Amino acid sequence: MNRIGEGYDIHRLRPGGPLRLGCTDILADIEAVGHSDGDALAHAVCDALLGAVGGGDIGQHFPPGDPRWAGADSKVFLAEAVRIVAEAGYELVNVDTTIGLETPKLAPHRDAIRVAMAAALGCDVANVSVKAKTGEGIGPIGERQAVEARAVVLLRKVG
Ligand code: MG
Repeated sequence: MNRIGEGYDIHRLRPGGPLRLGCTDILADIEAVGHSDGDALAHAVCDALLGAVGGGDIGQHFPPGDPRWAGADSKVFLAEAVRIVAEAGYELVNVDTTIGLETPKLAPHRDAIRVAMAAALGCDVANVSVKAKTGEGIGPIGERQAVEARAVVLLRKVG
């Protein structure tokens, strides 16, 4: 039997850098504001994994007010989500994602993000898809106020 899960996240941007996205440091003149490392893509994938097994959401497992998670590397959150999925008797089939970011262009970083996310998830790179959109100059994405990410995962029952 299969299960699907959906996840979404958004983080405010401020001048600085690098931009942490998909367990990757991207050279940029902006950075994400967040209690942890502000990795919107990793957080969206976490929520998708948790959602697929009815396992709550990332804020439940890693409360944003908890000092333990201040500046935390989101790889820790992904590893825990994968552990919860395995504990429920499932494994990842594939994950498809879309990032909303005005600049910098993500195309040159897409493969590095896929590799880093696959490593964090313990899966094959072929099973991790990363797509990117700009905000067409309008709204919080287009006006460079925020970065957002969406993710859908498919799981299959082990055994
Ligand atoms: Mg987040």
